[in-house]
Amino acid sequence: MKTVNKAAQEWIEFERRHVWHPYSAIDADLPVFPVASARGVRIRLVDGRELIDGMSSWWSAIHGYNHPVLNRAIETQLSSMAHVMFGGLTHAPAAELARRLIELTPEPLQTVFFADSGSVSVEVALKMALQYWQAKGQPARTRFVTVRSGYHGDTFNAMSVSDPDNGMHSLFSGVLVKQHFAPAPRSRFGQPCQQSDVDAFESCLARVCKETAAVILEPVVQGAGGMRFYSADFLRQVRALCDRYDVLLILDEIATGFGRTGRMFACEHAGISADIMCVGKALTGGYMTLAATLTSLAVSAVIGSGNPGLFMHGPTFMANPLACAAAVASLELLTDSPWEQRVCAIEAGLQTGLEPCRAMSHVKDVRVLGAIGVVELKRAVDMRVMQPRFVDAGVWVRPFGKLVYLMPPFIIGEEDLSSLSAAVVRVVGESV
Ligand SMILES: *Cc1c(COP(=O)(O)O)cnc(C)c1O
Repeated sequence: MKTVNKAAQEWIEFERRHVWHPYSAIDADLPVFPVASARGVRIRLVDGRELIDGMSSWWSAIHGYNHPVLNRAIETQLSSMAHVMFGGLTHAPAAELARRLIELTPEPLQTVFFADSGSVSVEVALKMALQYWQAKGQPARTRFVTVRSGYHGDTFNAMSVSDPDNGMHSLFSGVLVKQHFAPAPRSRFGQPCQQSDVDAFESCLARVCKETAAVILEPVVQGAGGMRFYSADFLRQVRALCDRYDVLLILDEIATGFGRTGRMFACEHAGISADIMCVGKALTGGYMTLAATLTSLAVSAVIGSGNPGLFMHGPTFMANPLACAAAVASLELLTDSPWEQRVCAIEAGLQTGLEPCRAMSHVKDVRVLGAIGVVELKRAVDMRVMQPRFVDAGVWVRPFGKLVYLMPPFIIGEEDLSSLSAAVVRVVGESV
């Protein structure tokens, strides 16, 4: 380990007192590790230590860090323009990215709204559903139906459809719009759906369908709401119920999109599609913040036919050309790569590597799907203790609550993957 030089010590100390981190506080007594650089699946800290990345920077860096192809795409775009406003102007990177997204996503998604983050793309999806029903002369449809244990982002309406218990509902009760929650499906991935899950969902939807604009769900994998993998059959049945009760279906593929679950999009496990779909996170390979909301031509046509005949949303940095260029290059890298074999190999490696955790008395469950491995503990971990232990073990793993999980870049090698799993087994084992 190198020592940290004086200049670095100074900015690190300043940062600690003045800069917010996700779900943290200024001067919080929580470890934050200064990074000097990152390349491939390695994150190098300012003190010289190298960590194997187990997080893909929250689902996003699927090709690893500092990828020459992505670097070149951004440099090339930069030489013509970094950004121009999207109101009244357009550019090739936006058109090219939209074309690829429409090709890659399941039918009938044909239109693309570029947003600056996942949460904003969810806000856009919800707003589109509201404008759709207004245009159809049914303005009373102002609510959304979802299932518990979901997560859709941190802005207010995204929070309103996220899990009411482990989300932030009690903190903002009275501010958040009240939505309708069906129980989280209990049928696990790979199993047929229990009728009780469908019945519970249907009874919720049937009761409130007249005031419901859309159902919003994360397909198959519930991410930050609990890392649960549920039956694809349940999703298929929800699609059928949305059609029967005439409500739109919004699928939030922000975490699951672009191969993470072993399919390009998680809804493909169920062979269904959405009326409105959100993507983000891995869209630019973890390079820039960019998300998108896709809809069918049926939805976009109805919105355009209403009053004012326009969709009322328009971010300042909408379709940022650098981000679009990075996304085009990232999608090309992905589709040209043997990503299915890679995700399959990661799935097998995680299954073997994390298996020893199953025998631990303080572990509740071990589950793996695609390039996602989860160890669920019986009690919440102490981040102050566990996070430095992972760093000492030479890996970057960021637990939350009762969950210790891995979602490495798709390019990770067998040896690094075993080191990651071994570190999880060891650190979880020590945390009894
Ligand atoms: C991360 C995430 C979001 C929010 O995306 P941000 O880019 O953090 O705003 C929304 N939905 C799901 C499923 C996510 O995983």
